[in-house]
Amino acid sequence: MRQIDHFIVGGAPAATRFADVMDPNNGGVQAQVALGDQAVLDQAVAAAQAAQPAWAAMNPQRRSRVMFNFKALIEKHMDELAHMLSAEHGKVIADSKGDIQRGLEVVEFCCGLPHVMKGEYTQSAGPGIDVYSMRQPIGIGAGITPFNFPAMIPLWMGAVAISVGNAFLLKPSERDPSVPNRLAELFIEAGLPEGIFQVIHGDKVMVDAILDHPAIGAVSFVGSSDIAHYVYNRGVAAGKRVQAMGGAKNHGIVMPDADLDQVVNDLCGAAYGSAGERCMALPVVVPVGDDTAERLKAKLIPAIEALRVGISTDEEAHYGPVVTAQHKAKVEGWIQTAIDEGSELVVDGRGFKMQGHEEGYFLGPTLLDRVTTDMESYKEEIFGPVLQIVRAPDFETALSLPSKHQYGNGVAIFTRNGHAAREFASRVNVGMVGINVPIPVPVAYHSFGGWKRSGFGDTDQYGMEGIKFWTKVKKVTARWPDGSPYGGNAFVIPTMG
Ligand code: NAD
Repeated sequence: MRQIDHFIVGGAPAATRFADVMDPNNGGVQAQVALGDQAVLDQAVAAAQAAQPAWAAMNPQRRSRVMFNFKALIEKHMDELAHMLSAEHGKVIADSKGDIQRGLEVVEFCCGLPHVMKGEYTQSAGPGIDVYSMRQPIGIGAGITPFNFPAMIPLWMGAVAISVGNAFLLKPSERDPSVPNRLAELFIEAGLPEGIFQVIHGDKVMVDAILDHPAIGAVSFVGSSDIAHYVYNRGVAAGKRVQAMGGAKNHGIVMPDADLDQVVNDLCGAAYGSAGERCMALPVVVPVGDDTAERLKAKLIPAIEALRVGISTDEEAHYGPVVTAQHKAKVEGWIQTAIDEGSELVVDGRGFKMQGHEEGYFLGPTLLDRVTTDMESYKEEIFGPVLQIVRAPDFETALSLPSKHQYGNGVAIFTRNGHAAREFASRVNVGMVGINVPIPVPVAYHSFGGWKRSGFGDTDQYGMEGIKFWTKVKKVTARWPDGSPYGGNAFVIPTMG
């Protein structure tokens, strides 16, 4: 059985605990990943402490060159990485390339970091006094990441953290751990000093050890909301800077004037792409008015029935299997709950079998209508290929649905009416908004982050928000006397006159 070890300086010690890495396309176990403990973390932290000061002291343009090299290596190994990713996650190859590409774009942003790291300077803020500020790295940071984007999310955090001079410890999901290790190898090949980007595998034991470790100054987490909340509270209680992104239930509002053919195309991709296992998926559609609902449903049904589910390497497939058998059972359970709660089952994706891959974790697409806000299946995240229709009588009701939902990650409105779109974007209580854009993940030089139970902490991922998270600002007030006597009263709080 293939074994996946930690990527740490000095080599991984013999592991005593392992987790199974499943094969979503065929079922069964394909590898085992080591689950680390305090001793593994201590070894990685010691290496990080040894390497970080010299890395932080390096000219920023030299750190940039490492990122340029790394970018070229990811491009060179795109196919290999995509196949590795799909084999453990289950998403189709084209989608894995998208996962890697969105991470790569953050690496590209990091190539230009010397420019954005420049501080502020005020000459003659007082007599002979200059004031300046500089951004300095935290020291050692850690990232804890989910299974659904095993390339993009580690790079959201890790690329920014190291570019500004930190050492970074990545604790990836134990369900698809191979790509993170490969990224660590490519960083070394790109010229990154040993100890600056290490990968420590594990479960709650490792996460708790990270949260309590006194040498780790900042922790970035992405995963489900209950764990995000736990990580946030425990990390902050230990005196760390923490950002913790959680789950989602994104709504797509369809106004009566929307281009329904375009909407159906967008909804199929955003609800069922990656088998619905995206935090920016659109699992809820809100048609405004019954007429819109009926027209939309009539177009959606044949489009959904035409979707092709396939193994990850099937180039014609729209989406592949979900990640594990347990997750498949959980999604099927939610479909049953939705029916029991009174939703109308329009298309049933349960019981789908892939010929030749009968043990794989496949689910056909499901469509549910007449879903209401009191249903548990509406309130909670399903994270599978399931689209729920919640009908709204008017714009105000449609606006209130995502605004009142416990999650506030992303939302989209489909309309030709500029005023309605503008009003919606300004008033909706959600962190990321798409206007005729179903998956509004901001580009790498903006920032990513949801609101309410989708995000704990006050900074977002990547862009300037990422730089803020991974740095501290030092403020220097300097006086260079010109020989004339200083006339101030030393016992009064200094003012600049
Ligand atoms: P998860 O919460 O199960 O796992 C995330 C990380 O937490 C993993 O590294 C895991 O090892 C660790 N972990 C698991 N159980 C733990 C525990 N009890 N204590 C401490 N750590 C624990 O999430 P997942 O299933 O891997 O990913 C899917 C979830 O992530 C969904 O809820 C999805 O919406 C969310 N997500 C959110 C965003 C975002 O930016 N808001 C992005 C991607 C995914």
